[in-house]
Amino acid sequence: MDLAAAPPALLVRRHLHIAGAWADPAEGETIPVENPATGDIVGQVPAGAPADVDRAVAAARDAFAGWAATDPAERAAHLDRLHTALAARTDQIARTVALELGTPLKLATRVQAGLPLTVLRTMVELAARPPAEETVGNSLVVREPVGVVGAITPWNYPLHQVVAKVAPALAAGCTVVLKPSELTPLTAYLLFDAITEAGLPAGVVNLVPGTGPVVGEALAAHPDVDLVSFTGSTATGRRIAHLAADRIARVALELGGKSANLILADADLATAVKVGVGNAFLNSGQTCTAWTRMLVHRDRYAEALDLAAAAAGAYTVGDPFDPATRLGPLVSAAQAERVRGHVDRALADGARLVTGGPAAPLPPRGHYVAPTVLADVHPDSALAQEEVFGPVLAVIPFTDTDEAVAIANNSRYGLAGAVWSADEEQALAVARRLRTGQVDVNGGAFNPLAPFGGYRQSGLGRELGHHGVEEFTEVKAIQR
Ligand code: NAD
Repeated sequence: MDLAAAPPALLVRRHLHIAGAWADPAEGETIPVENPATGDIVGQVPAGAPADVDRAVAAARDAFAGWAATDPAERAAHLDRLHTALAARTDQIARTVALELGTPLKLATRVQAGLPLTVLRTMVELAARPPAEETVGNSLVVREPVGVVGAITPWNYPLHQVVAKVAPALAAGCTVVLKPSELTPLTAYLLFDAITEAGLPAGVVNLVPGTGPVVGEALAAHPDVDLVSFTGSTATGRRIAHLAADRIARVALELGGKSANLILADADLATAVKVGVGNAFLNSGQTCTAWTRMLVHRDRYAEALDLAAAAAGAYTVGDPFDPATRLGPLVSAAQAERVRGHVDRALADGARLVTGGPAAPLPPRGHYVAPTVLADVHPDSALAQEEVFGPVLAVIPFTDTDEAVAIANNSRYGLAGAVWSADEEQALAVARRLRTGQVDVNGGAFNPLAPFGGYRQSGLGRELGHHGVEEFTEVKAIQR
């Protein structure tokens, strides 16, 4: 199937996946899927209803005792087969993400398809060795799977966000009902094609596509869901936490961010700015960990702006399927409009346009926003405080390290950050002062075994690695 050419027919999916089989939805409503590079409708999925959520949760409950009692080595073998089935679909996954989200194909192959495979590989290994039991005095402390998990995921990394929940939940012995984003549901279906091929036991993972207000709320509020694992906006996370609170259900929340990239005076400026711009614009800036505030020492501020302008100017904006493209469209017209509004407001608030902005040339169709760099952004201004989720970088000067740390921590979020310095000890000391769940020092590589999550309003709990598996467990103390 050549998804680059205008598809001859819509990519239509008609079923939910419940109790190990494709299942008819309770109602006939559908959700169209748009190609954000053109605005064309390219696919369609069912809009699930609360009755579908009830059936899926019941299937996950029925499967739970058996899966929880399955030998860890066997659970690992299931995940290994799933890895094989998913890896065989790498090209199809990348093309589907490029089509429904607009990630440039090369990046989609490397990150959108590649990262979930990397994460799934770590979970095969973690599934085989469950969290160790511990003896504390006369107590044996054991971890047990928390039960039925409701997983609700966003569109920006449509397979990674799903795998980062489903794989550790299964590794821990839980069963899952997934509601993927209604903007990028086709990618989730590829996971269920792989699940079917891998032969996972019936009901262990179930799929109910649909909208947030209908399927998402029904799942978050369901009395038989033990843990709601959510990735998305802070506003929706708050709503989900309220729904779960009524029955004291567990929640794990991976939410928004406004991460700071601290470039100290002695840093390798060319590398720090180049990597910083690349991070801020990754996936058209639709990345929760994006370093959207670049903090630069005043002595090097002008030089940094020149470097950032050059780096941003080198981005080719356009068709995700064109190999020359580095920046695709935003996911939707509404998102592009929101991002343009942030830029307009920042300019009205006194920020200085370095490159990009409202007048920059863009492809005639599709939800594009030009890679934009803004200087002299006040640390308290809306642009420095609110998550933009687009290719917009705010560059902010500082005078000394204490001020840089204060600006970085002046945020209701606390997801990620970066520090650059020729003195690694100094950089590490600054990293410890940042109130965020992760910090990269001098461009430290992403580690799929490291815990991932946020401080403050960036979330609750951690994903990935053994911390990610433990998120799906309860702790029991047995006294003897
Ligand atoms: P969103 O909150 O609008 O939607 C996320 C999911 O929640 C979707 O599946 C949606 O259908 C569902 N949803 C919406 N309203 C709901 C409701 N009332 N009840 C239950 N479910 C509901 O977020 P989005 O626009 O899809 O994603 C962008 C946001 O996600 C950004 O804020 C970004 O920072 C955040 N994000 C965070 C991480 C992280 O790991 N911290 C990763 C990726 C994205």
